[in-house]
Amino acid sequence: MIPDFKNEAPTDFSDEKNQNAMLQAIKKAKNEYGREYELVIDGKKVKSDDKFASINPSNPDEVVGYAFSANREITERAIRAASKSFEEWKLVSPGIRARYLFKAAALMRKRKAELTAAIVLENGKNWVEADGDVAEAIDFLDYYAIRALQLAERQPLARIKGEDNELYYIPLGVGVVISPWNFPLAILTGMTVGPLVMGNSIVLKPASNTPVVAAKFMEIMEEAGVPDGVINLVYGSGSDIGHYLVSHPGIRFINFTGSREVGLYIVEEGNKIREGQKWIKRISAEMGGKNAIIIDSEAEVDSAVACVIASAFGYQGQKCSACSRAIIDEKIYDYTVQQLVEKTKAIRIGPAEDRENFMGPLIDQAALDKFLKYVEIGNSEGRILCGGSRLNKSGYYVEPTIFEGIEPRARLAQEEIFGPLLSLIKVKDFDQALDVANDTEYGLTGSVYSNNWSKLEKSRRDFHVGNLYFNRKSTSALVGVHPFGGYNMSGTGAKAGGNDYLLLFSQAKAVSEEL
Ligand code: NAP
Ligand code: MG
Repeated sequence: MIPDFKNEAPTDFSDEKNQNAMLQAIKKAKNEYGREYELVIDGKKVKSDDKFASINPSNPDEVVGYAFSANREITERAIRAASKSFEEWKLVSPGIRARYLFKAAALMRKRKAELTAAIVLENGKNWVEADGDVAEAIDFLDYYAIRALQLAERQPLARIKGEDNELYYIPLGVGVVISPWNFPLAILTGMTVGPLVMGNSIVLKPASNTPVVAAKFMEIMEEAGVPDGVINLVYGSGSDIGHYLVSHPGIRFINFTGSREVGLYIVEEGNKIREGQKWIKRISAEMGGKNAIIIDSEAEVDSAVACVIASAFGYQGQKCSACSRAIIDEKIYDYTVQQLVEKTKAIRIGPAEDRENFMGPLIDQAALDKFLKYVEIGNSEGRILCGGSRLNKSGYYVEPTIFEGIEPRARLAQEEIFGPLLSLIKVKDFDQALDVANDTEYGLTGSVYSNNWSKLEKSRRDFHVGNLYFNRKSTSALVGVHPFGGYNMSGTGAKAGGNDYLLLFSQAKAVSEEL
């Protein structure tokens, strides 16, 4: 019997026992500050001449760890190791491959506080969000293991007389996984173990902001017994070795999550056929969003306000699913805005390791500069209602910021900012709200707040986003419950944590035997 999938429960941090465990884990993680993290090629730890620091964005003086950068020669070795290991890994039965994932999930559960602490310190994520990141990684392991077992069962085909027909899924080959920093464990885990459990081997290039969390993932996969060379870990710059990987003729697929800019570049580069290449690369590119929440005249405004704030400012607005446009019906506009501003001003900001802080810092100096640039743009496109400044603290802290009077096609309403900046757009009715919501290049998430059933029905049909939510926030998709991924410039159509995801990394073989 294939087990049922159950989502990992969040940790209850109101329980003093759990609080103490986290405080201990943070202390322990700080004791490990400054450690060096090696590349892993064919199961062996590899150093290079070059290393870079991963800092704690809550306090950039703290170096969480140093990671060695791969050069092209080392990256080439990683591809070769993956190619060699593929020959055996593809023959391992799906039941055994799934078992590695179940084991890794169990190991993550045991090391939950340690992983959560690493995310708090390396990402500046608050406790609850960091815990959710770990829970999601565990979910991906369990969910894809279960799904792989289901796909390994005999697939239904029509029977004809005198023939035995069978269809089964075989892996593609060596894949490159390029992950973002904003879900340093969950997304990296899902993007790696999905293809892995289908029998592919992997070269994993994590985001340069979060190498320590990636190292912990690698340790866990090794401890779970995944054979040498099946996952190879290369740190290094996206534009150098990232480029080398995606343009390599020996790579069969690319699994990317990150910005629109890099994603489109990878789609273009990855689609060029190079000498010696005898396949068309499969490319998944999951990218950004410009997500809207519609607050209709018939909405429960107070709950809408709470959820807009959670969606726009949770993890400092650094989620692809974050709300960056609130589209508000003019009939309830004034009260809604007054509530939004009042509640936003009350948000506590400070180091992520302090459990009381709802918002921590932005990820790095570049993110801070970008945010401040958009505040300037906002000042010319609309009127600032609150926030807008860097906070006078040592990390990359900024205030949660709200602009009103933003035109639907203004830059603030069209470009992904990836920070705590919310644009308010006033509309005259629900139809106009839907038009504005759809009027971007993206199509990732969206929410509608309304108690009018027919408006929700209309949204089901016309609100063109991959993940649409009614009367709830636009963030916090759960594996297996809310398969995640967007339309248009938000992505190529992978639904992470959904039924079809593993098919992206496999090909079906049909075998017919005359009897
Ligand atoms: P990013 O800057 O695009 O980087 C993503 C990854 O690509 C990193 O590992 C990066 O390496 C690498 N990279 C950069 N340039 C490259 C190149 N020329 N060739 C190959 N690889 C390259 O994105 P990010 O800042 O990490 O993440 C934030 C973005 O991800 C946002 O736009 C967000 O909306 C999006 N996102 C989307 C989803 C989704 O499911 N749709 C989920 C999460 C995040 P370096 O770190 O070394 O630069
Ligand atoms: Mg960092």
